[in-house]
Amino acid sequence: MPGIHTLSSHLVNQIAAGEVVERPASVVKELVENSLDAGASSITVEIEGGGTRLIRVSDDGRGIEADELELALSRHATSKIGSLEDLEKVASLGFRGEALPSIASVSRLTLCSRRTGAQHAWRIAGRDHDGAVPDALPQGTRVEVRELFYNVPARKKFLRTEQTEYRHIEALFKSLALGHPEVGFRLLHNQKTIYQLSSASNTSERMSRLARLCGSTFADSLVEIDVASDHLHLYGWVALPTFNRSQADMQYFFVNRRQVRDKTLNHAIRQAYQDVLFHGRHPAYVLSLDMDPTRLDVNVHPQKHEVRFRDAREVHDFLFRSLHRALADIQPAQQVGSPGFSLAQASPAMASAPAQGGLRLPRQQASDRSANLREQMASYSALLQPDTGDISAAGLDPASDAPPPLGYAIAQLKGIYILAENSDGLIVVDMHAAHERIVYERMKQNAEREDVIAQPLLVPIAFNVSQAEAELVDRHQALFAHLGIQLERLGPEQLRVRATPALLKQADSEQLVRDVLADLAEFGRSERVQEYQNQMLSTMACHASVRANRQLSLAEMNALLRDIEATERSGQCNHGRPTWKQLSLEQLDRLFLRGQ
Ligand code: ADP
Ligand code: MG
Repeated sequence: MPGIHTLSSHLVNQIAAGEVVERPASVVKELVENSLDAGASSITVEIEGGGTRLIRVSDDGRGIEADELELALSRHATSKIGSLEDLEKVASLGFRGEALPSIASVSRLTLCSRRTGAQHAWRIAGRDHDGAVPDALPQGTRVEVRELFYNVPARKKFLRTEQTEYRHIEALFKSLALGHPEVGFRLLHNQKTIYQLSSASNTSERMSRLARLCGSTFADSLVEIDVASDHLHLYGWVALPTFNRSQADMQYFFVNRRQVRDKTLNHAIRQAYQDVLFHGRHPAYVLSLDMDPTRLDVNVHPQKHEVRFRDAREVHDFLFRSLHRALADIQPAQQVGSPGFSLAQASPAMASAPAQGGLRLPRQQASDRSANLREQMASYSALLQPDTGDISAAGLDPASDAPPPLGYAIAQLKGIYILAENSDGLIVVDMHAAHERIVYERMKQNAEREDVIAQPLLVPIAFNVSQAEAELVDRHQALFAHLGIQLERLGPEQLRVRATPALLKQADSEQLVRDVLADLAEFGRSERVQEYQNQMLSTMACHASVRANRQLSLAEMNALLRDIEATERSGQCNHGRPTWKQLSLEQLDRLFLRGQ
């Protein structure tokens, strides 16, 4: 064994490259981020052989001084921070000064740059270079990386096929382009242009970029988000819950323009969607959160995929509340989406046509604390026998000339669908799915007005937790009471559950308490009980809702349409399937080859 010695800087860079440069896509990420940091307004990414033969990134940013080119390739050299204070409020994407030297140590790299105002460009080679030589470049910087990992066979072996590596690059390119809409981007693979995106400065240009990168079905189902609090600003788009994915592959979240993966953010988003998505499906979104950089630690991951929030709970709360609200507020008018139907036009009609008659839930019923599950079921099934004498011409308000978004019923099809006419064309409603959501939302509203009813366990259950968890129980006594969980502390690390929510008497009480404690420890709040309870209510709503083959009168159908308009989250049933669809005149015309 040789004695202790200092490693050569080349080897040090290669070791750092092990962290920073995982595959060709990581090189693209570092180079494009440098271009963005240099204030580029247009960036071109050229790829050959899935990035293993060539990666070339050119920008029109501010460029690098000739005498600083060599420095840019040396370790711990950066123009982005100078002190610890700078690090605490870093606003650039890079700051560690290790990307270029790391990449240069595992590839054949050349760096060519022309500083704004310079006579011409200068170029240096990454290793064994003989200083900078003049070169031609109109403006900005061009970095060429050839033969990645040519000198690191172990790494090269881990590379996948050209197609796979290219797919990683394309995915990364998409996220960079989505996160920086004001910058023009181009991507070429093997000399073929794959994407050419001009800079997007307004909403409609940003939407068309999004449609280009994520597909038009995604773009057709967007809900715009723009919410600000004192020091947080959330903006971007979420897809309607009916547009969901089997994989979490259309989820883009940017914090101060940096794409991140974060447990707190994921949890908040999942919670916001929990009631409107089919189990095991994933929502789609492109969201940005801007905040004061001093409230964020970005120096926690070498590839900077992760961040740490100074106040994770505040961020969690803000995100959950904003998205939950936005999803609940989706109105039929938004989904109908025809130019004739703005939300503003639709609302007066909706306001003047409150839910009437047969499908209304008797309000006092659920507030009767003694009502047990069976009674509740019975009261909801009463909805199946609407008292037609109650029914006025629901929604047919002659005083208002703006027609309601979902129009008026014209017929019922096979006892399953309601057909309605609105100013756009035909509306088809899945009667059971729609009614199920309406009943469910009302059950939830009633449940929310009251504390959860606690039901004593026949045999109280004792179990051990950590001391920190046991202390949470002391601190959150009121919360547990509100949730219908009676808990006592038997010792420093022992708890006993005496009662659990009546609706959840089948649940594993110990697991329920453990889940709530885990949430409280991590996020400062817990939606578990509501979540489980909602699952129960959802099942009840499903049983209580109009089944197929029940004939409804036109008045009942219209009442259901008005209820859909007035009910939160009514665009999808409790399982995330759509409750109604629009077939526009245009679509119908196309079906019959009219005007062609
Ligand atoms: P970091 O981005 O962390 O500062 P890098 O190794 O990626 O470290 O880059 C080193 C320096 O080189 C940067 O701080 C910047 O000054 C300069 N640089 C790199 N790429 C560009 C570019 N495309 N345009 C202008 N300057 C660049
Ligand atoms: Mg960098």
